[in-house]
Amino acid sequence: MKNKLIKLLKKNKRLFFIAKMIRLLSTSSFRKIDGGKKKYPKVIQLPITYNCNSACVMCNIWQMDHSGEMSVEEFSTFMQDPIFKEVEIVGINGGEPSLVPDLPEYAQEILKLPSLKALNIISHGFSPKPLLKSVEKIYRSCKEKGVDFHIAISLDGVGEIHDTVRGKPKVFEKSTSTIDEIIKNQYKYCDSYDIGCTIVKQNIDYLIELDTYAKSKSYNIKYRLGIDNKRIESDRLRDQYSVIYSPLRQSAKEFFHLQMSQTMALNDKFKYFSIFYWLDHETPKRLLGCSWKDEGITLDARGEVYYCAVASESIGSLRKERGEKIFFDDKNIDYRKSIITDSCDGCIHDYSGQPEVKAVWAFLVNMILDRYAMKLYEIKVRFMS
Ligand code: SF4
Repeated sequence: MKNKLIKLLKKNKRLFFIAKMIRLLSTSSFRKIDGGKKKYPKVIQLPITYNCNSACVMCNIWQMDHSGEMSVEEFSTFMQDPIFKEVEIVGINGGEPSLVPDLPEYAQEILKLPSLKALNIISHGFSPKPLLKSVEKIYRSCKEKGVDFHIAISLDGVGEIHDTVRGKPKVFEKSTSTIDEIIKNQYKYCDSYDIGCTIVKQNIDYLIELDTYAKSKSYNIKYRLGIDNKRIESDRLRDQYSVIYSPLRQSAKEFFHLQMSQTMALNDKFKYFSIFYWLDHETPKRLLGCSWKDEGITLDARGEVYYCAVASESIGSLRKERGEKIFFDDKNIDYRKSIITDSCDGCIHDYSGQPEVKAVWAFLVNMILDRYAMKLYEIKVRFMS
């Protein structure tokens, strides 16, 4: 019945578009999140190691100490903390996850979470062998548990541009060979994948080349803006990589506008519009939702707990205290509220989470105005002449 309805709607483009708009609106909320509600987290961001063999221009992790990180046994005790009892999604990142030798064993511990529905992993893809070996095992375990498994591989340009952004020679070939293998034999590795490009000074002039390359290889590529992020100390590298505070901001704006008009998926359109809108305003305003405002927790490789990665300091350690005590502590909740007041509008990181109805409405109005822009212009000219 549902499939029949979708087929019917697809035949009528306008009706299909309206149905998609209604669906997007239905996922939004009238509620303004202030971070004060004590809810168990639904999402974990899990930087599983600080170890990294890349040297990205927008990240300082590769310069950080990665000693004293949790063993599988210690991680297992962390995962049994009741604070994680309602977690539905876990995102493994790093550092570089493929450098963790027992990665599938850590994943086994994650898969014991009682409410888990999806597991995601992000990698630079430079080390095809260990990465593919690990993800193949993880995917098998996910299938046994009925958990969705998603892989994201970073690709920031074609050839030397990718190498420049990643700070390593000849890694373009390695990343693309990983991507090609995942696409070719996806049944072995994951339910879904995407390719992520971070937009920085070093690749902003070469994005059309990357986009064309990605299309020619049927890569499902997504773009994000490189921004200040405390966890990876990118706030210290702003001059080196950021387009936000340079004349290149205009190029970024135009690129996101182009992506918005070319992308068919409405959620992606909304995401790109929101980034464009954010760049277009001198006092930035975030339209996108964010799970980390009251549904997300960040747990690092030494058991330190944060609210979000972008703006939060550590709020405690699972090596010393129970998760509920840390996460629901009144002082910490006040701190989360202050992050939302002081930092969220200035942040265009993380695209998950429920947006407010008025944000989706602003997007829909803009789409309609965009669609009829020429007609409106003609009317204006006629009345003015
Ligand atoms: S600062 Fe950014 S990542 Fe952190 S809660 Fe706000 S919007 Fe989310």
